[in-house]
Parts: sequence; structure tokens; C-alpha cells
Amino acid sequence: MTTPLYGQMMDVPLTVSSLLAHASRHFGTTEIVSKRIEGDVHRYTYRDCERRAKQLAQALMALGVEAGDRIGTLAWNGYRHLETYYGTTGFGAVCHTINPRLFPDQIAYIVNHADDRYVLFDITFAALVDVLAPQCPNVRGWIAMTDEAHMPRMSTAASSYEALLAQHDGAFDWPELDERCASNLCYTSGTTGNPKGALYSHRSTVLHAFGASLPDAMGLSARDSVLPVVPMFHVNAWGIPHAAPLTGAKLVFPGKDLDGKSLYELMEAERVTYSAGVPTVWLGLLNHLREAGVKFSTLQRTVIGGSACPPAMLKMFQEVYGVEVIHAWGMTEMSPLGTLAKLTWEQSQRSPDEQRKLREKQGHVMYGVDMKIVGDDGRDLPWDGVAFGDLHVRGPWVIDRYFRSDASPLVDGWFPTGDVATIDKDSFLNITDRSKDVIKSGGEWISSIDVENVAIAHPAVAEAACIACSHPKWTERPLLVVVKRPDADLTRDDMLAFYEGKVAKWWIPDDVVFVDELPHTATGKLQKLKLRERFRDHVLPSALDIENCPFDEKEGHALRHVKTDLS
Ligand code: AMP
Repeated sequence: MTTPLYGQMMDVPLTVSSLLAHASRHFGTTEIVSKRIEGDVHRYTYRDCERRAKQLAQALMALGVEAGDRIGTLAWNGYRHLETYYGTTGFGAVCHTINPRLFPDQIAYIVNHADDRYVLFDITFAALVDVLAPQCPNVRGWIAMTDEAHMPRMSTAASSYEALLAQHDGAFDWPELDERCASNLCYTSGTTGNPKGALYSHRSTVLHAFGASLPDAMGLSARDSVLPVVPMFHVNAWGIPHAAPLTGAKLVFPGKDLDGKSLYELMEAERVTYSAGVPTVWLGLLNHLREAGVKFSTLQRTVIGGSACPPAMLKMFQEVYGVEVIHAWGMTEMSPLGTLAKLTWEQSQRSPDEQRKLREKQGHVMYGVDMKIVGDDGRDLPWDGVAFGDLHVRGPWVIDRYFRSDASPLVDGWFPTGDVATIDKDSFLNITDRSKDVIKSGGEWISSIDVENVAIAHPAVAEAACIACSHPKWTERPLLVVVKRPDADLTRDDMLAFYEGKVAKWWIPDDVVFVDELPHTATGKLQKLKLRERFRDHVLPSALDIENCPFDEKEGHALRHVKTDLS
């Protein structure tokens, strides 16, 4: 064996602190604007941010925090949260963002599982901390992210963030760390079982930030004013707090006010060009625009992900408000970005209808992620846009194993996402379901997302969920659960008639029920398990009348695939 010839370039570790150091040095005067919990708007620069992140690092080290220790946060999007992202990871501690919308018992489980040393919290969560503190005996201290004047009344002994920072001068150099060391920790929302932790490394975080910044990924730029609506407690706000300093983009943080009016006013005031969030938040914003009769004057692009972006929303953003929607897919276990629906030059020469169909999908992988779909036998399925399969991924920012768990979740080196998808000849991914939510009618899969998207396009529908309901002949058939818009007039028959010509006949739900609200997880995803439990005993009209089933071979139901005991 000959000795390998190594490259002769500097071996500079990819550390999270290098992102902020870069912004502070080269975009030192670029602003970070935050709507504060205290009620006012705070503004400062990347240079100020780095100095205060260093003060925080000094304060935490003085409290005895060591490299590898986990520091929890219960906080909205704001400058102090950003300082915590860097003031922890910068000296080797791990920034553990916790979703405050989870149930307190679940949060206590997460804090204890992560073994958080300190927890930093926004004063909105003071009452929550009082509930958590007795259940989390290993936390050495709770730090309120405010000054002494705004310290909340609490039964828990808490210290003031500003008072801690004031004891230090920020004269400190970020240490050089091994890029494979842990930097950030996020727990999955845990719709079933206990939440599981994804422990990112400095290397994976920086590579993800590079990837996210690419023009055909999130495409952030120093010319952008970026307002991440996606919370910093949800998979690191999709990497924006890392990608923004990498690119030098201005940051605008909305704090706790995520209603349509507050978001719109902040976007206009800070001349926001770029935003990102889950569809539910955009519903509120779009409603506000319609009711107030206003338009965006600066917003150009927004990333929508976390759940499928309804085509009606995509259309409204683009056609009514002139905002480019970048539909994206990812997950906590992927840091989170996997795919984005941006078109190639050739695709953008196709008819408007074809382009729209591509944008409605979850898109193309970014460099750094590889994907495949596999059938029940584990074999690769064709990329024909038709075959449904379990989606598997791999790459340097994809999870290898969960925090404090020895069992590998991987299958042949790939991570099974739990999503069911098609991939078309353009290599565009289309998520059709979570594997546990899929509806199997007579052995064939029905995409609940597609069925929901049609319902949401109806003007009288505020929200809709499609779930499997048991059926004596087809095993399962779709049931549509609908929340009407206030004062809207909509009957079951109107809803079903609306499906005519929009989906294959056998995908049309067998029944529609109206409810006041749908259950959501703490990250805004529909909790279909809860809905399935609620409607477990629902009897579909078609189940009572098997002889006159509304779908048959002539109408396109793939009876040839139906198991013999069902046909
Ligand atoms: P989380 O780890 O909480 O971010 O949830 C990840 C899951 O959200 C994915 O596995 C998908 O099931 C779902 N998801 C995320 N983005 C999308 C999208 N654009 N379309 C459909 N489902 C999505």
C-alpha cells in the first residue's frame, strides 16, 4: 500500500462559533431586531451579539458549566435566545432548545433525559418553570432572560440573565473545538411514545448552514431582511440562526406575537424580504391581509414546511401577493432540511400549470442529503411519480442514533423517515403521508394529504383532516373531518361534490364530519392518532351498503390489487 497523498490545506474545524465570529467581523453593523417580551423593540448588531454571547459564555463557565453540559432554553425568537445559541456552543456546551408548547410532564421528561444543567427561560414561561422545577431536581439553576427590573414573581429561585451578563466583559476568545463534538440538541415532538433527542455536532450544524444558504436551498443572502416565524425551539428555526450570520442577512425576531397583524406590521416596519414558517401561521397572516385589505411591500420569498403546504396557500401567496413560496420538507432528525421545491432552468420553461404542480411537491434534495423510496420488501421503488414507498435518507446532517440510545434506527445505513412518498422523474419528492397515517383502501394507498388539500381549497373550509375509517369491504376508507370557517354554510354533500373531477373517484372520502377544532401537536401538526381514536366507532354510510359501494372497477379503483378476501 502506498501512503495516501494528503491535501495540504488548513484543517480548520467547522465550529458553530465561527458563524457568529464571521458575521461580527464582516457584517458587524448588520442589525438584529427583536420584538421583546418586555413589550418594546430591541435593536443591535451582529458585533453586539457576539460580545454578549461571549459574556454569556463567561457567565456560564463561572457557574461551573463545562464542555458537553446541556443548557436548556424555553424561549421565543429573540436576541437573547440567539445569544444563547452561541454563548453555549461557543465554549463546547450544548444548546438544548425545548418546545414550551409541550405538556409540562413531557417537558420535565425532556429536561431530565437531557440532564440539563441550567435552563434559560423567557419570562412568559415563569409559571411553567414553577411547575417544572420540582420535577427536575438535577437542574442547578433557572435563568430568566430579562433584567432585574422585569424579574417575574416565582416560587422557583431564578436569576436574571442581564445581571449575570453584567458581571463579565466579553473579553474572551472562542476556543478551538473538535468539530465532531455535540453542539445542539432537539427533541422530536413525540406524537407517540417519549420524545427522542437528536444531538447535532458542530460539523453537521455548519454543513447544514452552508447547504441551507445555497441559492436553490433556502437561498439566504446579505441582501435579505429575514424574519423566522418558525420557532427557535423547533429544530433550530430550520437553521436560520446559523445560516443568517453565515450569509450576513439581517435578522428580525417576532418574539411571542405570532398573530397575523403583529407579523404583518413587523414585516413592513423592518422591510422584511424573507420569512419561514409552518402553514398554520401563514393562515393567520393571509387572513389578516384579506381582512385589512393590505399587501406586502417588501416580502419576496417565504419557506413553508413542517407540514404540507396546501396548494391554495401557495397560489394565494404567489398570485395575489407576489411572494415566492419555497415549499420545503425536513425533520428534526435531519437538522432539518432535506428537500426544497425550486425549479431548474429547464423546468421553469414548462407550462405554468406544470410548474405549479412541481412547486406543490416537496421538491429536490439539496447537496448533502440522499434519498430513496422503498417498498415493504425493502427494495428500491421506481422514481415515476406513481409508486408510493417508505422514504429513507442519509447524509452528514442526518441522525445516526438518538441521544442516550444504543439501538441504531438505521436500515442498511439509511434513516427511515416514517414518511411515505413518491419521487418523480424530475427527482421531485412528494410526501403523501406519515407511514402510520396512511389510508389503505383495498390494498391501495390513498394520500390523505392530497384529499385534505382539495378540502382546504373550498372557501368554506378553515381546516381539514383525512383519516382512515374501518370498512368491512375495503378494510379502510377515507373519512374527512372538517372545521368550517366562521359563519360558513357547508353541507356534507357540498363537500363531497367539490371533489368531483379533482381526485380519482375512489379517493373521494366516504363521509364528512364537522368539528369545532382539530387536535394539533406542539409543533402545529395534525394529531391524526387522536382523531382516529375519536372516530374509531364511526360508521361510514358505505359500510352499511356494501352492495352499492360507490366505487368499483369501472371507476378506477385498482381492484386487481385487492386481496381476494376483500374482493
Ligand atoms: P419535525 O421533526 O417535528 O420537524 O417533523 C417532521 C415531519 O413533518 C416529517 O417527517 C413530515 O412528516 C412532516 N413534514 C415536514 N415538512 C413537510 C412538508 N413540506 N410536507 C409534508 N410533511 C412535512
